Amino acid sequence: MQEAMFWEKAADGKLECGLCPHHCRIAEGRRGICGVREARAGKLLASGYGKISSANNDPIEKKPLYHFHPGATIFSIGGWGCNFKCRFCQNWGISQKVVDSGDFFQPEKIIAAALDSKSAGIAYTYNEPLINIEYVAACARLAREAGLVNVLVTNGYIEREPAEFILPLVDALNIDIKGMEEKFYKEQCSASLKPVLEFSKQAVEAGRHVEITNLIIPGLNDSEEQIKKLAGWIRENLGEKTPLHLSAYHPEYKLDRPPTPPATLERAHDLCREKLTYVYIGNVFSDAGQNTSCPQCGHTLVIRRGYSTRLAGLDGQNCAKCGRPADLVLGR
Ligand code: SF4
Repeated sequence: MQEAMFWEKAADGKLECGLCPHHCRIAEGRRGICGVREARAGKLLASGYGKISSANNDPIEKKPLYHFHPGATIFSIGGWGCNFKCRFCQNWGISQKVVDSGDFFQPEKIIAAALDSKSAGIAYTYNEPLINIEYVAACARLAREAGLVNVLVTNGYIEREPAEFILPLVDALNIDIKGMEEKFYKEQCSASLKPVLEFSKQAVEAGRHVEITNLIIPGLNDSEEQIKKLAGWIRENLGEKTPLHLSAYHPEYKLDRPPTPPATLERAHDLCREKLTYVYIGNVFSDAGQNTSCPQCGHTLVIRRGYSTRLAGLDGQNCAKCGRPADLVLGR
């Protein structure tokens, strides 16, 4: 069993986990909210270490990342558990339960599979990867040595010190900002918004490539005020060129509201475009918000149809028409 990082013994003998803002105080034999950090014989163990629930060689656009290695595939792995309890979780079958008997994979095996698959690197995704920070770090170090990139798809709910530890090992992140109200985070996710915003800023300040996803849920976070607030916050704190993915919700887990209509996403797209250069629509059939265009001359740089991606209008790293540098991190 792998010992966990970022914990200390509290005065009452319980173990306090300092990985995420929940700061669970865990009694002997029990686990924290995420289900994968467990007190045993006076130590906190990372009991999810190496336990893989899912592995696929996905298009990187599926993470979604549209400005980082466009058109590449990324070897994507997930474990079990989550530190959020989102009522609308689209992956609740792995995030809201923990299977201890699952297959164990040494990091070396993950690197070998990623190399075999000819992907750009490894994405830590599907459930919340940062609750397994020890395993992500072990894989990420080896991946770097093998010339692979590391991508985190995360809810961003992590304390500053562990974030300082993991960010240097990560090349790109997609961070979920699920709404712009503390009330929403509390009632829908059993968590809080402020640490997510802080982590997003920290990732950008650390020089990582960051894209943001916002799942738009009818009646919960789709008001014009909320959408404008999100776009304004991103522009002010992360930069106007930060790609934003507006994603359609579908009824899942504990939420049975009807799916997000394409018109809602298109309206949100137009509102966000007033503040941000790159805004995309995902998880729904829509012609809007798919391609990447040059902000200077409007030339189409990247064409996307579903998960098929074509680099159509580039001359090296620049727009083929006006020569402006494209805001894309291109792969090999
Ligand atoms: S990582 Fe898990 S155990 Fe640690 S504070 Fe967060 S929810 Fe609790």
